Amino acid sequence: MRVAVVGAGPAGVRAVERLVAAGVSPVWIDEAPDGGGRIYQRPPPGLMRDARLLYGFEAKRATAVHDALDALKPKVDWRPETLVWHIRPEARTLHTLSRGRQADVAYDAAILCTGAMDRVIPVPGWARPGVTTLGAAQIALKTQGCGIGRRVAFLGTGPLLWLVAYQYAKAGADVVAVLDTTPFATKLRAAPGLLLGGMTFAKGLYYTAWLRRRGIRIAEGATPIAIDGGDENGVTGIAWRDAAGREQHIACDAVGMGWGLKPEAQLADLARVPFSHDPLQANWVPVRDGAGRTPVAGIYLAGDGAGIGGAEVAEIAGARAALALLQDAGERIDPIETVTLDRRLASQARFRAALERAFPFPAHLARDLADDTLLCRCEGLRVGELRAAARAEAATGPAPEVNRAKAFTRIGMGRCQGRVCGAAAAEVLAAELDCDVAAIGRLRGQPPVKPIPIPAPVDTP
Ligand SMILES: Cc1cc2nc3c(=O)[nH]c(=O)nc-3n(C[C@H](O)[C@H](O)[C@H](O)COP(=O)(O)OP(=O)(O)OC[C@H]3O[C@@H](n4cnc5c(N)ncnc54)[C@H](O)[C@@H]3O)c2cc1C
Repeated sequence: MRVAVVGAGPAGVRAVERLVAAGVSPVWIDEAPDGGGRIYQRPPPGLMRDARLLYGFEAKRATAVHDALDALKPKVDWRPETLVWHIRPEARTLHTLSRGRQADVAYDAAILCTGAMDRVIPVPGWARPGVTTLGAAQIALKTQGCGIGRRVAFLGTGPLLWLVAYQYAKAGADVVAVLDTTPFATKLRAAPGLLLGGMTFAKGLYYTAWLRRRGIRIAEGATPIAIDGGDENGVTGIAWRDAAGREQHIACDAVGMGWGLKPEAQLADLARVPFSHDPLQANWVPVRDGAGRTPVAGIYLAGDGAGIGGAEVAEIAGARAALALLQDAGERIDPIETVTLDRRLASQARFRAALERAFPFPAHLARDLADDTLLCRCEGLRVGELRAAARAEAATGPAPEVNRAKAFTRIGMGRCQGRVCGAAAAEVLAAELDCDVAAIGRLRGQPPVKPIPIPAPVDTP
């Protein structure tokens, strides 16, 4: 049986580990130079640092995942630095690009463990040099040992906001402010459910307490107004409205921002897996059963790419998807193992739901954006242009869902294919058309899932 696994984060590592234990040697692909995924991303070889310094409380887990990864590499067809840019389920083929060379990988079954990315809401000034996502700010620190600026403000909501601010401050950066758009009362209401998270919840409390003790300026229930600065010199400050409605400002030279995560599910989309809208996560998620089986024969999903669950869930789900694949291929699997994994997934799901309630996606921030705010960086499209197109289309025909709006305005048609602007664009459209965001639909994935070079003949003098 030809098996392919895409992604070598926690989900991919545990999926491959389970396959190898059953005597299956998959093709294992990751676009990164090494495995580990996002949370356990490894620095380049020349910049290796102590695991405790890099991963903090997660050092033990990171080391365990890395050790498993390294032990598995010689037992499989390991292909790092390889992007899967397309998948054709009718031909059961992955199309890959590695160091300028393309290849086709045939599979009978594939487990897609493609992870997540930051979810972004535009803020006036967000395209200035010095503004990054929270994840990008963290990757700079983890992999390169450097920060995104000298005086850094963090804006958004979710556990990553507080974690990255803590990691920056701990590393010696001048964190000037943590601006959480979720009001304190919302988090307090979710506290009983958060207790289910045990140590994970305790770590979150520790990060926030640590930041407060250092006297770092913290705002909860903040509403961003603008990131100040210039297009040449970059960020000079950030302005927001506090929970009492007062305008506030602080000088800084960089901003890291993000509002939770969204699944990187373009490959699942191209594999024709149907999607459904999850109102709690405020994300479109690929349809799968509890074990990671999709309605598309031979396609399995695990980890954040199947719906945001976090690193611990990703490890369990990776192993569970591998067991489902083996079972569907006629292998005998231990029912006690599957029941144990299913129970752990169910218990984690309850904590996840509480987290989503504690840090809900603030759709109103996207819906209330001023007309002149840049919405789609790739195509230079402003919020007002999308609103005008929506109104014009609604007046003459069926109200535009987001792919129709793409045809009229080029929203999501650029390099990122709407991975950055898509969530906010859907909210802007839903508000303008006065409908539920689920009715707006989601931007469909197109190959290549990420930009790839166009091969051209080389001129010889
Ligand atoms: C930027 C960022 C930072 C994060 N930091 C933290 C943190 O500090 N603490 C925490 O608890 N959680 C963090 N998270 C969440 C955490 O990373 C995830 O919950 C966890 O890593 C999910 O594991 P996974 O295996 O599903 O995906 P990931 O760990 O994201 O791994 C997915 C892998 O798939 C590869 N991949 C994706 N698409 C393709 C493709 N088309 N072709 C080839 N390879 C592909 C990627 O290179 C990646 O290595 C972060 C998430 C992000 C996006």
